[in-house]
Amino acid sequence: MAPSAARARWAGGGGPAAARVLRVAREEAPGAGAGAGAGAGGQEWERRYPEARGRQAVWRVRDVVTGAEALFNEVRSGKPRGFRGGGLPAGGAASGSAALDPLASGGPGRCDFCEWERMTAADSFGRVELPRAVTASNLFRLGAHHGLCLFKRHEPLGFDRADLGDVLEASQRWFEAARTAGGGDCPFFLWNCLPRAGASQFHGHAQLLLGREHLPQPRRLWEGDARHRRAYGVGYLADLAEAHGEFGVAHCVSSAGGAFPSSSRVFPSLVPLQDMELNVVGPGLRDPSFQEALFQALRFLIDDCSVTSFGACVYSEAVDPTSGRPVLARVVSRGASGAQSSDFGSLEVFGGASVGKTDPFALSDRLGEFLRATCAGGAVSPARAGNHQERGMGEDTDASQSC
Ligand SMILES: [Zn+2]
Repeated sequence: MAPSAARARWAGGGGPAAARVLRVAREEAPGAGAGAGAGAGGQEWERRYPEARGRQAVWRVRDVVTGAEALFNEVRSGKPRGFRGGGLPAGGAASGSAALDPLASGGPGRCDFCEWERMTAADSFGRVELPRAVTASNLFRLGAHHGLCLFKRHEPLGFDRADLGDVLEASQRWFEAARTAGGGDCPFFLWNCLPRAGASQFHGHAQLLLGREHLPQPRRLWEGDARHRRAYGVGYLADLAEAHGEFGVAHCVSSAGGAFPSSSRVFPSLVPLQDMELNVVGPGLRDPSFQEALFQALRFLIDDCSVTSFGACVYSEAVDPTSGRPVLARVVSRGASGAQSSDFGSLEVFGGASVGKTDPFALSDRLGEFLRATCAGGAVSPARAGNHQERGMGEDTDASQSC
């Protein structure tokens, strides 16, 4: 997308929901070499990086509910990388992840998660086993109830819709069983795919945590959600999806399957924590539209954007959230397997802000094309802005029920 088009979408987007959850501000940077210390021009850096010389627009986007903040500057796409031997190994991203496979030639030749019956433990309440997924107790706990949900497929990027559906359904059943076993009612589903995302095993797997209180980020989110409901009579996640609809980047995935027709919204975050963050707001882990939307989001990143390592999570207020209160899935790219630079610098680690890399408007346009071409299990439509106005402000509504 041309810079001017992206600028127009930042400047012209938004509406009532965006005003409640996002603050979009533009800062003008004078550009390198401007001011009293400017040289006569024609220096080597100016010839090599001419785009850095002009004025630069930095879009600073804040989620006022969670405090997350991202900084976008299109000029940064021309930023150089000064390392020897950087980039992907020969063969590209696919061979980069294959090189990590313990079953590939030269590797140890065994995978604990392929041999889950012998090499993993069952929880005190047993296992949840489905045709394509199985749960296990985490041998190295971060809490009283800390489990794993394993794909019954070794290769971590090749999962299909049925694989993911079984992982999400098995995870929901694990949360229910752990809750019954006294594990509290604050679930956290997380998925580190390959080492750049923090995984310690090649084989695809999610982690399941159930506690008596939420971890810090979801805790801030649910506390913010409660404040938001008191102030505006509408949930934060409904407004978050609505705000992205107002900016024209949200897509609706609806499903006639399951007990009831349902719909979820999928969109590139305008406040991404990491590159190409996609969000899904929907009814819950076992809802068909949520499963379909999350599946499409992941396949889009892997198949269309060549993402080979990602982190994902699902924030749910409770194992069975109050009716009408959606859950939020977040997925971020963690860069190519062979990349040398970390995607978390000190700005993120200590500053609490992120650098927006891929333009979210261009990403949304690509995502829309991908959904229309591949979304066989449900209907796809642009998420319509103005949902709350039509349904009445003050109604404690759930955006996922109607796009
Ligand atoms: Zn395996």
